[in-house]
Amino acid sequence: MIRIDSLTQRYGDLAAVDDVSFTAFPGRVTGFLGPNGAGKSTTLRVLTGLARPTAGRATVLGHRYTDLPNPGLDVGVLLDASAQHGGRTGRETLALAQRTMGLPAIRVDEMLDLVGLTWAEGKRRVRDYSLGMRQRLGIATALMGDPRVLVLDEPANGLDPAGIRWMRDLLRGFADDGGTVLLSSHLLSEIEMVADDIVMIGRGRIVASGATAELLAGV
Ligand code: ADP
Ligand code: ADP
Repeated sequence: MIRIDSLTQRYGDLAAVDDVSFTAFPGRVTGFLGPNGAGKSTTLRVLTGLARPTAGRATVLGHRYTDLPNPGLDVGVLLDASAQHGGRTGRETLALAQRTMGLPAIRVDEMLDLVGLTWAEGKRRVRDYSLGMRQRLGIATALMGDPRVLVLDEPANGLDPAGIRWMRDLLRGFADDGGTVLLSSHLLSEIEMVADDIVMIGRGRIVASGATAELLAGV
């Protein structure tokens, strides 16, 4: 479960996030939809402890992210796939995450396989990866600790249609197993095919939210 309560984030005169509240529930995929600059990343950065809000509160599994006993294990996070260290191979990236989380080494091969990266691709440096491959690697890192919650910022960017279908099935399975998924996108087409619930944001404010079928029936 994710709760955003009256969250405001100001940068000087700009309210990048302006009194935003919503909940993402277990067993459901929640899509966070809005145009570029709407405040999605800012919200997700506060939620995952990377920024401190001007006002309000963001919690995951009942705690502020930074107060979770095992943030890396409880919550899988992928905020910016393009920011992964280019000098490491995919395998090294996963091995580092695995050591940081104190998990057995076998996870690296399992995770590569799970996200559809081949053995040969795992040995290449991340700087030579396409954005879609980086997204897959980022999702592998996010899933590695077997989390109960996934927070993904624009994870479909750079994925081809087959990759987007793969991700939809993966997120569906994760939610069907009881997990909570919050993913952002600027494209309704990417959100509507996977999300049970949609939260729409524009210029820092929530403009609509609800179950996907009901929300889109009114569009
Ligand atoms: P989205 O993820 O929906 O594209 P962002 O959360 O990245 O939107 O940005 C929301 C607004 O806040 C934008 O106008 C952006 O330029 C601004 N913004 C984001 N981060 C900062 C920052 N560190 N300093 C100043 N303005 C920022
Ligand atoms: P501390 O652990 O000393 O509180 P933090 O940098 O984690 O340091 O947070 C500083 C302050 O920022 C907190 O006391 C709180 O007021 C605010 N803060 C940080 N993260 C959040 C969040 N997710 N929701 C609400 N407030 C937060």
